[in-house]
Parts: sequence; structure tokens; C-alpha cells
Amino acid sequence: MHNTRPHASRQRLSLLGLSLITALSPLPALAATYLSADALLDVKTGKMMLNPVLKIEDGRILELGTQGKLSVPEGSELIELKGKTLLPGLMDMHVHLGSDAEDNFLESMNYSVPRQTVKAVKNAKKTLEAGFTTVRDLGDSGYSVIAVRDGINAGEIPGPRIWTAGHALSITGGHCDDNFSAPEMHSVAGGVADGPWAVRAKARENIKYGANTLKICATGGVFSKGTKVGVQQYTEDELRAAAEEAHQRGMIIAAHAHGTSGIKAAIRAGIDSIEHCSFLDDEAIKLALKNGTYLSCDIYNTEYTLAFGAANGVPEENINKEKQVSKAQRESFRKATKAGVRMVFGSDAAIYPHGDNGKQFATMVEFGMTPLQAIQAATLTSAALLKQPDLGELKPGYLADIIAVDGNPLDNIRLLENVSFVMKDGAVFKN
Ligand SMILES: [Zn+2]
Repeated sequence: MHNTRPHASRQRLSLLGLSLITALSPLPALAATYLSADALLDVKTGKMMLNPVLKIEDGRILELGTQGKLSVPEGSELIELKGKTLLPGLMDMHVHLGSDAEDNFLESMNYSVPRQTVKAVKNAKKTLEAGFTTVRDLGDSGYSVIAVRDGINAGEIPGPRIWTAGHALSITGGHCDDNFSAPEMHSVAGGVADGPWAVRAKARENIKYGANTLKICATGGVFSKGTKVGVQQYTEDELRAAAEEAHQRGMIIAAHAHGTSGIKAAIRAGIDSIEHCSFLDDEAIKLALKNGTYLSCDIYNTEYTLAFGAANGVPEENINKEKQVSKAQRESFRKATKAGVRMVFGSDAAIYPHGDNGKQFATMVEFGMTPLQAIQAATLTSAALLKQPDLGELKPGYLADIIAVDGNPLDNIRLLENVSFVMKDGAVFKN
């Protein structure tokens, strides 16, 4: 059976020079750690609990009480976060850890798989330290992020829980193929497959090499050569084959889709989440509501691409396509939020610098979400998309993925851009 949950491993963090209970006790007798703060945000109700204390053991929250009521036994480790508000670890449903927006665009396309893996190791740490304790990586080459996920789960390197798609499925010449090389180079991206059975075979190949989620590119996209963002690429039959293959193997599948017909075809085909969703019409919103499809709209990165893209060597074609989608995408986000579609937090980190993921929250609020809705997108709703009943909230029995910020993020959403404390699986990664 394929492991669809990145395993909660005991982290050996003495190597990071951090004091934490697991590193201090070489023998299995794991003592509980206690964590106290000024407040804790219940992301379900938006209520602020004052003076919370959490008892954490073996990577999970065992008890949640208030100071004075939940007693901390003499000699136990107590982490006191004065002036801080606790929240569940944040979740970003669309990243690409293996590449950096800061690098030259065309040069970085020729990075070797080992080079991309080193990038992913660096970016996994950056992302975790920004408070994102769970991410979904939607496409790498050479299975580099699968290796990084396995290293994180083995406690060898720091990083978030990762769901990773391996090679994104693409039609020949599609958004997720390599169209930048000359024909005589015969460059074909690892996820290219045409026809329902070829799509199934490629999905199976990804799963064989360790993918625990899948991604398919249903329409053209901004950062590919010669594709039109509004134009559908895979047929509905091919999309349905990919969705069936994912679900049969107990996984969820994401579809990259900007154009309206591709979005609708992907929703009808049973895809779990639509990425980008730039050109939504009323029928697409209705379909998403009816099918319970999640939308993941990367509405923050536009300004970065427009400000730095040209300097980083992004071709004019791609910058023009960004201009073409950005306004429509933000209006689609506003409409879908208003209609009550399930919205997750997906930033497409790699289009802007990793570690800046939290900057998308303010854009989500600017385009129609309340601060609580934006936080729910990155916690409750993302956990629901991943089908993880013990992530996304701070409650007894849940995994101890906890962050802290200085003050109330419902009053100032930008506090989430500066996360000062990060715990994952009960281990402290930043304090
Ligand atoms: Zn992407």
C-alpha cells in the first residue's frame, strides 16, 4: 500500500542546536512537553482562548487547558511564549521546492536533478521556518522532492510534511512539457503522456517512485512556451483517467487549469483541486460547489513577477501572460469565495521566493476573504483536501504542528508574515 501520509517521525534535532525534549532523552521514556502562550486561535470558530496550555507528547497534543487549570508537573519542560498567539501549523497546497524565482529563468531550467534536490532541501527548511508545516509540491523533475520528503520523514533534514506529485502529467507540447529546447534536442518532460491509458501508465510510474499525490496540467499556463492560458489541453477522458487512477490508489489529484473549459472538464472528471482557476464563470463555480471541488488560487505572486521577472530573465511572452491572468484570477477568487466554494491556500512558491508564502494572506483578504477565512484556507480546508483528520486544528489528539505570532492575526493578517515559533510533530524548529 502506498503511504499517503508523510510519516510523523521523531526528529533528531540535536544537530540543529535546538533544545527539545526528544533530543534530550536518548531513551524511549518520552516526557511530555508543555507549551503556554497568551492566546490560542480556534480556527474553526474564530474564538480566542486566553492563557492556553498544551500538553504535548510523542508528537501529538494530549491535552488543551488554561493556565492554572492544566497543571504543569514539577520538572517538566515548559515552553512559555509570552505575548504570543498560537495557531495550527500553516499549510500551502501549491509549491515547487526544487526551484527559485530569484534564479535566471532559462538557466534554471537546465539545472540537474541533484542541483534541484539541493534547492529543495534549502527551500524545505525556509518554508518550515516561515510557519508552513505542511506543503503539497505540485511537480518536480527526477523525483527530487520525493527524496527530500523521505529525508525529512527520516529526521535527516528539517522541512514540512510533504505531499509530492513527482512529474506533472502533460500532453505533448503542453504546459508541463519542456517546450523551450530546439526540436533536435528531443527534450520531453518526465510527465508527458497522451491518451487515457498513457496517462494512467504515467500516473502509475509516479506512484511507483514514491509520489503520494498527483498533478495534471489541464490547460496552457503562464510560465511555459507557446501555450495559451485560456486553452484546454487534456481532454475530459484523459483527465477522468488520471482522477480514477489517483482515487483508486487512495490519493488526491490536482489539475493546473486557467481557462474556463479546462477548469470545467477537470471538475467534471472528478479532480480534487483546481490550481490557479483564473477564468471562472458562474457555471464553473456551480460545478465546483456541486462536486465539492477545492480551488487553490495563487493570487499573491503577480507583483513579484511584474517587478522582478524581466530582471530574472523571464521571457516577455510569459510576463505578458501573467498580466493577462492576474486581474481575472483575483476576480475569480473573490466570486468563488463569495459563493462559498472550498478555498485552500496555494501560493505557487517558486514563482516568488520560498519562505514568503505568508505574504499571500494579505492578498486573500484584499480580494474578499475575512482574515479568519484566509487562515481557514491554510489550515482546516487544506487538511480536508488532504483528507487528514488530525491536522489543521489545535485539539487533543491532533498532531503537534503549532506556530506562534506576536498578537492577534484576526486584527492584523500580516502577522502571519513573521512567524516567531514553529513546532512540527512536537519538535521545536524555531523559537
Ligand atoms: Zn505550480
